[in-house]
Amino acid sequence: MQVNLGTNAKSIHAGGKSARSLDSGAAACDAKAARFRLQRTAQSILFRKDLAPLQQHRTCWCHRSMRGESATLYRAADGSNAYLSGLNTCGNGWTCPVCGAKIAEHRRRELSEGMAAWTNAENGTAYLITLTFPHAAGDDLAAMLERFAKARQSWKNSRTYKRILGPDGTAGAAGAVTAMEVTHGANGWHPHVHMLVFAGRGGLAEGEPAVNGDLSSPAIDELRGAWVKCLLKVGLAEQAQVSDVWAHSFNVRGGEKAAEYIAKYGRDSRWGASSELTRAASKVGAAGTVAGELHVTPFQLLEWAGNGDTRAGALFREYADAFHGKRLLTWSPGLRKRLKLSAEEAPDDAVADLDEDLPERERVGHIGVEDLQVIVSRGLLGELIRTFGPYGRANDQESLDDWMAWARTMPKLGRGSVIVPRTWDKNRRRDVAELAA
Ligand SMILES: [Zn+2]
Repeated sequence: MQVNLGTNAKSIHAGGKSARSLDSGAAACDAKAARFRLQRTAQSILFRKDLAPLQQHRTCWCHRSMRGESATLYRAADGSNAYLSGLNTCGNGWTCPVCGAKIAEHRRRELSEGMAAWTNAENGTAYLITLTFPHAAGDDLAAMLERFAKARQSWKNSRTYKRILGPDGTAGAAGAVTAMEVTHGANGWHPHVHMLVFAGRGGLAEGEPAVNGDLSSPAIDELRGAWVKCLLKVGLAEQAQVSDVWAHSFNVRGGEKAAEYIAKYGRDSRWGASSELTRAASKVGAAGTVAGELHVTPFQLLEWAGNGDTRAGALFREYADAFHGKRLLTWSPGLRKRLKLSAEEAPDDAVADLDEDLPERERVGHIGVEDLQVIVSRGLLGELIRTFGPYGRANDQESLDDWMAWARTMPKLGRGSVIVPRTWDKNRRRDVAELAA
């Protein structure tokens, strides 16, 4: 039986499924395969010839070794997903499109649950505050991030912030979740944070939102004023820019926009060109910034790098260094409890290691260490998903073996062949056999 090619397999396995569900499942698997392609580009960008295998960036080893002797291929019964269980992952949401999507999806669910608990039980609302600052092409990203963090810290320590958004503040806020993001455009790096502030309904005494969704009120102006002051203090803005900064470096949106932000968090649209929110914030910038300037996410840079754009590759490396060790999301103390979530947020690498949460999971079969080497050295992880997600069947080792036989006939890619370190991480991972390059 042949399941190598989607078109062949479709006729064999379509069975009773409607063409529509098969197509949407196939589209989801295509998107996932594209993330594996981007992951491969990230691996080749982050790989450093001068470093030993174990010193390489963790993303270089993601999905390239097993926790045990074999890995199990599972698929969703509705054809929308497939994954290999038992592989080591990097858990780096900044640099790995595969782990990034999984972590973001997990966080999105938590945020949705938290939002539901807060708005249902406490008659509360959430505000979406976006903070940024003027930036120009050529600005050093790491240096910007350091100052940006200082500005945020000093803003949170300000009397204005405490009076309005603090624990006993007028907004009735239970706390905030802060998401750090960055895009790149004609004016260089554009770091920004989105803060979801869980507060009391009408806590900022705002009126109806403007056409673009922005809220305004005296309290919002006070918070904005405090933010501008902090930017001046840390040197992220100059006095001459104040009116521009006032207009563009800070905005507040209401519950609907907050819910929209959560709904999009971790969705594929975020991996492509910038989201609506980012575009809104992209109008911020140094004098001369063109409104509507194209801003792209780091994973879009990867896409370009994969197509031979070396500058995009260099930018991605700069970004990976600058965000190393930073958190994707930060919860203010005690907030998770108020939102009825587990007290501790699971670390990113633990989330990346979780089995995928499929609606109805079917076990297709298993592969061994040598099979993984064949798959990875030929760049076929995405292809495996694209084949067995939409077109696979439960308990079908035979098809998997056939597919492996086909994979062996495919050419090895010149770069990025598998070198599995003898030990990945002494604390969590089993030793794995070393494979030839
Ligand atoms: Zn990864």
